[in-house]
Amino acid sequence: MFEDLIPELQGPAKDLVDACGSAGLLPKVTSTRRSHQAQVRLYRRWQSGLSPLPAAPPGTSAHEFGYAFDLVVSPWEALADVGYTWESWGGVWGGEKDPVHFQYPGFVPPPVETTGLPWWASLAMPTQAVDILDTPLAKKTQSDFHYVWCGWFPNSSSCR
Ligand SMILES: [Zn+2]
Repeated sequence: MFEDLIPELQGPAKDLVDACGSAGLLPKVTSTRRSHQAQVRLYRRWQSGLSPLPAAPPGTSAHEFGYAFDLVVSPWEALADVGYTWESWGGVWGGEKDPVHFQYPGFVPPPVETTGLPWWASLAMPTQAVDILDTPLAKKTQSDFHYVWCGWFPNSSSCR
């Protein structure tokens, strides 16, 4: 179920789902790693008001990099407890705005330039699995993503 996530996240994700199951919360994982195209679709739904849950601009979602998963439980309100548990384990939780969202703490979003683009511009970006896993988590910095960004847009002002 979690094979698409970064290795460091797989164990805790499974533990969280198991804990929810033991508590009788009927956990259901609704999303793990997302393709770039899937993120574009979700973002458009969010932008047009069709989705109650927020979506990050394409290219910036932790889901696209395997750093997050979405989990629903029953009753829905129990997500606050699940989120609290996740945070107590050191994870990042989506909170009230995005209660289904559970994220690994090491994720750094790509540079803000991507967020200033209209959604359709991201269609021009190739889907790119960013190989940042051979760098220890603590060493991942903005420059790793700067490198990726410049691979997409070598002529943008910040790359020349
Ligand atoms: Zn999410």
